[in-house]
Amino acid sequence: MQTPWAILLTKFNDNNDEPFPRLRYEEIFTTAGTGKWNMVDYFSDMSHGKLDLSGTQVFGWYTLDKATADYTGSGLNPAGRDELLQWAKDKATSEGVNLGDFHNVVVVLNSGRDLFGGLNGIVCGDDGANSALSGLSPSFLGQEMGHGYGLNHSRREGSTVDYTDPFDVMSVDAGRSAPHPIYTDLDPFGQPVYEIGPGLNAANMWSKGLLDMTRVWTDPGSARISTSVQLRPLHRRDLPGYLAARFGEYFIEFRMNTGWDARVPACILVHRFEKGISYLVPDEDGNDTFRAGSGISTPENLSVLGSGFSIRVKSIDVANEVATVSLGRAPAQIPKVFPQEGPFQTPWIKWLEAASLGEAVVILNGTAVSIPRSSPAYGILENVAMIGSSHPLMSERLQISIREEAMTNIARLSQTEMSAPLFRSPTTSLHRKTGGRWENGSS
Ligand SMILES: [Zn+2]
Repeated sequence: MQTPWAILLTKFNDNNDEPFPRLRYEEIFTTAGTGKWNMVDYFSDMSHGKLDLSGTQVFGWYTLDKATADYTGSGLNPAGRDELLQWAKDKATSEGVNLGDFHNVVVVLNSGRDLFGGLNGIVCGDDGANSALSGLSPSFLGQEMGHGYGLNHSRREGSTVDYTDPFDVMSVDAGRSAPHPIYTDLDPFGQPVYEIGPGLNAANMWSKGLLDMTRVWTDPGSARISTSVQLRPLHRRDLPGYLAARFGEYFIEFRMNTGWDARVPACILVHRFEKGISYLVPDEDGNDTFRAGSGISTPENLSVLGSGFSIRVKSIDVANEVATVSLGRAPAQIPKVFPQEGPFQTPWIKWLEAASLGEAVVILNGTAVSIPRSSPAYGILENVAMIGSSHPLMSERLQISIREEAMTNIARLSQTEMSAPLFRSPTTSLHRKTGGRWENGSS
């Protein structure tokens, strides 16, 4: 996919600085800098080679008909930011640039006045004074130009806050960037001025069609799966083998502490994607990174409703750049094997006993609770079921009257129960001990 960018070197009319020779800007954004950890390389690597930025061109310097003080844009004033993009685009157009030939624009200022990106364009800059982390760092540009491809900030599972996936460029503020291998300038505190990475996660890649699905192990969707998958580092399409796995709703990727990911520990990362946002899924111990032995799973014994879903890291072989992940899923079934020893409060025994006694079984939070016929809760459940069974093909009038009747019954049953003596009928008592032996069933 050809996505050339127009790079517009831009000045306000009260600051005539040109902090770097033109070649430097060309090295950062165009094929003049291929192999120097630039943006052409970055987006090629982050898209499994699908994004081709080789047509990118640098234009300018252009001097706006505006002074620095005329610029009012900020995170709180996005309209002001759009204004600057428009000023720069208008200026470039008047100078003969056909912006229609380009995927999007990067406005490069001769100062670090602002840094942002969106579908409408990117603004960045650097005054060349080496005083702080540069807006021309590939780490920042990866995120801002990522916005220019429609990507949103990434998050950690359970978070509603952006920038919370430290291993993804779309959270680059969370900091897993590495010093630039070529531009090694340091700021007054000894910190790198230019940084690269981290990479783009597999879920974000997939969301924009940038994940090479011919290199992704894909869930066959069968009821029972028990397999091992070997993964290469996500962005190493030069190596043979799978670069990611898609299992259920999860994207599973191997990342290593090299290249763009130099500050990412060798680990497996799991993501899912929902409503335009990628979420980093922690392992069952709450760790962001999956190491050998870590995983996520549902309990094997809860297979009445289908379960045994698991993702587990078997090994991470850094020397050979390969990680092995086992993936499993069991079909929905009532297990046939009964345990020989206690404890016996296991879901399948409850299920079988309840069925033989004609009781109701409710699965709540993964635990089967049985409700005897004699319990008033049973009558309430019958009415809940009545609501559940009114289906969309019924007339709205009929659905409403079913619902009303059920609700009235539930209210009446609840009221009766409130005035009844306590402990009239236990809800769960499934195991009796007879002569030293536990019995199952309705004897
Ligand atoms: Zn951003």
